[in-house]
Amino acid sequence: MSDYYAQAVSREDLRQLAYVIRREFGYLDVWMIPVDRLLDQMCEAFEDFSYEIVPDDEWEDKSTHADTDILGGTIRIRESIYNRACDGQGRDRMTIAHEMAHYILSCVIGVKLYSRRGKHVECYNDPEWQAKCLAGELLIPYYKLKSCSKIPSPLRIELLCGVSSDAAEYQLKYVAGGDVS
Ligand SMILES: [Zn+2]
Repeated sequence: MSDYYAQAVSREDLRQLAYVIRREFGYLDVWMIPVDRLLDQMCEAFEDFSYEIVPDDEWEDKSTHADTDILGGTIRIRESIYNRACDGQGRDRMTIAHEMAHYILSCVIGVKLYSRRGKHVECYNDPEWQAKCLAGELLIPYYKLKSCSKIPSPLRIELLCGVSSDAAEYQLKYVAGGDVS
């Protein structure tokens, strides 16, 4: 995706989109989204969507954990990553949420992509930033954090949402400070 820049989408837009996704798939009242179940729900909801679990020894690019073919509407996930996500590993759950975000942004919302041609790209025009931001907002729900009488600690968010400590800390920056850039 790094060869592209995208139509601008702000964190505020992505936060609202995360809320709509949670609402449509029945996760408004829960902290932790079961990403494996959400993959199956997306197959039912979107006719062109599918996902594939690829055995590790058949995975060509060892530097990646999953990828999304936005033309074919398919997410491919390395088997070990999928299994760890099913076991609740935060980093692997986020990997899958990230690929879902690419699919939803490109194929459901229709955020347009353009060739980058060496051009400098602001974060809100960067498809990778957009997917990272939407995945974070999806797994760590802003509206639930804001509804707490006291913002939970990073460790508590890690446990509640099933995310890594890095993701919990990163997301907190955009909640506690009210910074929505
Ligand atoms: Zn990506």
